[in-house]
Amino acid sequence: APVVVEVGLGDRTYDILIGSGLLARAGAEIARRLPGTRAAVVTDANVAAAHLDALKASLETGGIQTAVITLPPGEKTKSFAHLEEVVDGVLAAKLERGDIVIAFGGGVIGDLAGFAAGIVRRGMNFVQIPTSLLAQVDSSVGGKTGINSPRGKNLVGVFHQPKLVLADTGVLDTLPIREFRAGYAELAKYGLIDRPEFFAWLEKNWVQVFAGGPERAQAIAEACRAKADVVARDEFETGDRALLNLGHTFGHALEAATQYDGSRLVHGEGVAIGMALAYRFSSRLNLASPDDAARVEAHLRAVGLPWRIADIPGDLPDAEALLAFITQDKKVSRGALTFILTRGVGQAFIAKDVPASEVLSFLRENH
Ligand code: NAD
Ligand code: ZN
Repeated sequence: APVVVEVGLGDRTYDILIGSGLLARAGAEIARRLPGTRAAVVTDANVAAAHLDALKASLETGGIQTAVITLPPGEKTKSFAHLEEVVDGVLAAKLERGDIVIAFGGGVIGDLAGFAAGIVRRGMNFVQIPTSLLAQVDSSVGGKTGINSPRGKNLVGVFHQPKLVLADTGVLDTLPIREFRAGYAELAKYGLIDRPEFFAWLEKNWVQVFAGGPERAQAIAEACRAKADVVARDEFETGDRALLNLGHTFGHALEAATQYDGSRLVHGEGVAIGMALAYRFSSRLNLASPDDAARVEAHLRAVGLPWRIADIPGDLPDAEALLAFITQDKKVSRGALTFILTRGVGQAFIAKDVPASEVLSFLRENH
C-alpha cells in the first residue's frame, strides 16, 4: 500500500501518494477524485519513451480520455514558447476548466504544465505525476509553478495547487544517475533545514536510497512530509517557506552563470553547491561551526555531488559577476540581500540584510 501524506490547505487539501508501482493505479486514483473528467498529459520525450505507455494504459483503465503533449527535455523548455505550445495543446483538445492537466515528468514539466493549468480557462484541475527524484521530493508538492525569463529563473508564474500527487518510486529506476544525485541534493536539504535526525539517517542510509530499497520510499515520504508541513503553514511564502530556498540563492546564480546549460550544471547540482556555500558562508560569519560546513561538504562529496564552485566544468564569471546574478534574483528586496543561513546542521534560518560586501569577499575566497 502506498504511503499517503496530506497537504493541509483547507478545502484545497490534497494527497501525495508515494510507493513503487503506483503508475498502474494512477487512472483509478484520479478517476476516484475527479470523476468524469478528461485529461491532457504533458510530458517530455525521455519520460514518454520510458513510461508513457504504462500511464496511458492506466488512464484508460480509469476511463479517462487523454490527449498527450510531448516536449523536448531540459530546463530550456520552461519558456514562453513552450508555455504557448502547452496552452494551445490543452485548448486544441477542447478541455474544460473541470478537466485535468497532468504533469508527467520532472520539475521542468511540473512547473510548466502547472503554470498552463493555472492560467488556461483561469485555472484547470491539475495532477502531478512526478518522475524525477527532485520532482517527487520537492517541485511537485506545494503549488509553485512557472517558467524562466531570459532575466532569471522562475520569474514568471502562479501559485496553483494540484488536486493529487502520485509519486511512483519505481519509475526512478530509469532516471540517469546524475539526475538522481541532483534530486538527492533537494532531499538532503530537508535535513539541513530543520531535520538533523533525517540528515544523520541519510548519512547512514544513502546507499539504499540510491539502490531503490524500501529506504527510497521512506526517504521520499519524509521529504514530502517536511514539504507539506511548510506549505500548509505558509502557502504563499510570506514567512517560513523561504527556508526551502536553502542553497538556492547561490545555486540560481550558478545556473544563470552557466546559461542553464544542463551539460555543465543541473538545478539540483547548483543547489548542492549552494547549500555547501551557505554552510561555509555561515561558518565564515561565525554563525555555524566549520565542522558543520565540513560535514555537509563531506556528505555531498560522498554521494558524488559537486559541492564547490571549482567542481563546475568550464569557465565561470568572476565573483563580481556572480554577485550581480545574485542581486538580480527575486529574493532580493529593497537592496538588502536575503539569504538562508544556518547555525548548524538542521538549524537554518532566514537572514535579511546580509551585506553584499560580505557575499562578495566570500565568493572571492571560494571561487
Ligand atoms: P527535469 O524535469 O529536467 O528532469 C531531469 C531529466 O530527467 C530530464 O532530462 C528528464 O527528461 C529526465 N527524466 C525525468 N524523469 C525520468 C525518468 N523517470 N526516467 C528517465 N528520465 C527521466 O529536471 P528536474 O531536476 O526534475 O527539475 C528541475 C526543475 O524543477 C527546475 O526548473 C527547478 O526550477 C524546478 N523546481 C521547482 C520547484 C517548485 O516548487 N515548483 C522546486 C524545486 C525545483
Ligand atoms: Zn530547488
